[in-house]
Amino acid sequence: MTAERKRSEDAPQRPKKRIAILGGGVGGITTALALTDPDNPHRDDYEVTVYQMGWRLGGKGASGRNTAPGMHNRIEEHGLHIWFGCYDNAFAMMRKLYRELNRPPDAPLASWTEAFRPHGTSGIETSFGGKWHHWIGNAPVNHYPPGYGGLLPMWTYLRFGLEMYYRNFLGRGVPKHPSPTGDQIIRFPHAEKRRKMVSKGVREGRFWLMAARLVRHLWFLSAPFILAMKLFVWINEFFLEWYWRRHKEKVAEDLVEQERWTLLALMFAIFKGMVWDRVLLDGFKVINGQDFRAWIAKYALDDGGVMINSGFMVGIYDGMFAYEDGDNSKPPGADWPPHAMIEAGECLLACVREALTYRGAPIWKMQAGMGDTIFAPAYQVLRRRGVKVELFHRVDRILASPDGKTVDRVEMTQQAELVERMRSLGGYYPLIDVKGLPCWPSKPIYAQLVDGNVLEREGIDLESYGASWQGDRPKTLVRGDDFDEVVIAISVGGLPYVACDLIGKSGKWKDMIQRMRTTRTLASQVWYRRTAYELGWAPMQEPVVSGYDTGPLNTWADMSHLIERESWDAGARPGREEYPLNVSYYCGVMPDDPPLPMTVCGPKAPYPNQEAENKKVEVLTKVLLTEHLRPLFPEANPESGVFRWEWLVDQRNPRPTDDQRFVSQYFRANVEPTERYVLSVPGSDAYRLPAHDDQEFVNCYLSGDWTDCGMNLGCVESAVMSGLLCANAVCSWPPRSEIIGLDW
Ligand SMILES: Cc1cc2nc3c(=O)[nH]c(=O)nc-3n(C[C@H](O)[C@H](O)[C@H](O)COP(=O)(O)OP(=O)(O)OC[C@H]3O[C@@H](n4cnc5c(N)ncnc54)[C@H](O)[C@@H]3O)c2cc1C
Repeated sequence: MTAERKRSEDAPQRPKKRIAILGGGVGGITTALALTDPDNPHRDDYEVTVYQMGWRLGGKGASGRNTAPGMHNRIEEHGLHIWFGCYDNAFAMMRKLYRELNRPPDAPLASWTEAFRPHGTSGIETSFGGKWHHWIGNAPVNHYPPGYGGLLPMWTYLRFGLEMYYRNFLGRGVPKHPSPTGDQIIRFPHAEKRRKMVSKGVREGRFWLMAARLVRHLWFLSAPFILAMKLFVWINEFFLEWYWRRHKEKVAEDLVEQERWTLLALMFAIFKGMVWDRVLLDGFKVINGQDFRAWIAKYALDDGGVMINSGFMVGIYDGMFAYEDGDNSKPPGADWPPHAMIEAGECLLACVREALTYRGAPIWKMQAGMGDTIFAPAYQVLRRRGVKVELFHRVDRILASPDGKTVDRVEMTQQAELVERMRSLGGYYPLIDVKGLPCWPSKPIYAQLVDGNVLEREGIDLESYGASWQGDRPKTLVRGDDFDEVVIAISVGGLPYVACDLIGKSGKWKDMIQRMRTTRTLASQVWYRRTAYELGWAPMQEPVVSGYDTGPLNTWADMSHLIERESWDAGARPGREEYPLNVSYYCGVMPDDPPLPMTVCGPKAPYPNQEAENKKVEVLTKVLLTEHLRPLFPEANPESGVFRWEWLVDQRNPRPTDDQRFVSQYFRANVEPTERYVLSVPGSDAYRLPAHDDQEFVNCYLSGDWTDCGMNLGCVESAVMSGLLCANAVCSWPPRSEIIGLDW
């Protein structure tokens, strides 16, 4: 035994701090991973427990496998999830996670590069001349691996710009080469060199930010800088006005001209706005009080609304679910949905980060469900590190001390108990094996639970705040006995239900709840017996398309690569009679019906009935298929009101009727308080709470995409940044300088 090891064994053991993480979505999981990270020098100081209602981790990103007969372990998501090439913190986390998972090389999704696949093309639909047209964006794929942050070497932008212009306006075609796999990006012959260039890019990026700070503080530098920028803007304005006068007829008649003009006019308005409002020097937050489109409109050239009402603009709002109250409807005669709104600064930051720092490809698609790709590996790694994951624990009330200085108690419902056999085996085992991949099921594994058959028979939804049954057991965590510090990783939509006491005792919490908005979302997944090409979609492979419809399900992604991860009965394949060749995910916002009252505390409305809300999505999907799908799938929808139902897959029935085929697809309404998507409505940014506030509830930390996290938007990257900031607030690790993008 070495002297050092002996000394450390003899040293008195410091008691570990007990951290209770309430909620196991992206934010909570990121915090748990960071606190126990092998690189974290303080990891041994903490004992971490994650409390999660229901049977699975993931929250809004959770997915499950449908194990019912005839459903063939199909993937069922809360909604379409894709990752963007600028998700540096999220990809860095995935790299670490898969390395530690250390799956055998021949296992499915053995590494993160197999778990994600880069994707270069996306599109929007534009209504032009009374018809819908495809507008396909074809961004070049590059060989820079994601997850390292910073700007790319300057010359790359020039190359990107020229390539984009060629592909989108001259070539106008599908890329000559298919997208590389993540693996090809990482193993590209010069990948190491490129990784180094990325770190050089990070240093350069920091240099430019420092330079911007310096210029900002020294008026004798800032005044000439702004003047030079304004001069540049004026020259461009002069040129663009000339261009518009010369080409406006063409723009009205020719779709390609209109696309070209839209992009030019948008880039100009953004640049002018950034100079005029000093965003370049003072940061993105200075314009957060305004709506993005309204801000653009202030600086746009007068083109009769071509640019600001374009499909491109609609696509931005659709992609971010940016509709207050989930209402994307447009009154007759209006150019724009009145409820569309998003903070200008946060939206611009996301667009700029994506445009300037995407790596590999603008979009990355997961190669299985989000639960299988992210949360199953995270669960396995956390368990190996000794983190306790207490599933079936619903938080009911978080209570502060009478003086409002600390969080003292957490009241919960333990929603299920384990049968003796599972207790003796060490606990609930939540994952199932699907073709060699550990996955979460869509329902709890009832056989492991006491009275599981009752739960199943009565259809109790353990992910619902309103669910109750005979197996519920109250449980209270007490500060000092059960936890020392608490991380609230429950989403903001759920806080009025569980954190009333904190809201009542803190003005900042109250303001936050009053100012922030969330929306319901909806999703459906349809398995077709024909490929997208046969359905009538020709422009490109496996697209992600938004804005094609004025109805709620206005974003579509072809996710056919997932079919091989599901276990469809290939015996049904001969003659391609009953086998899926395409799976399409549709997604969008869903209005509150009736509207939510504006109370800050307590249930805002009766608990939603999941089944009834899913039924509404089923009806909307039927309308989509019969009335709105023609622009995308003309062959499936040969004339308005008609749909080829026989093209839908149903392996449950030997001879399915049209109706059986349709109802066997997947329909999902995200209506539970905590499942509501977090919006960034103008002016709300200033009221978001940081990961920790010394003045309030000192043993309480916050994690999730609703906190003030450096990119205040409802997305995975924001939730990861927030989770890291939360871990940093708890134990000063990771250092803030390692959280990529905070300095933007
Ligand atoms: C339909 C849809 C599509 C999306 N698409 C994308 C996309 O393509 N790309 C992207 O980047 N982002 C996307 N997002 C956003 C992304 O899902 C979220 O930003 C992210 O999942 C938020 O994570 P979070 O940890 O902040 O919150 P959540 O995921 O909401 O986590 C909160 C956790 O707390 C748990 N919880 C809540 N209440 C309780 C309670 N009382 N007791 C115990 N546990 C509780 C929840 O079950 C959950 O696990 C999408 C969101 C939706 C809804």
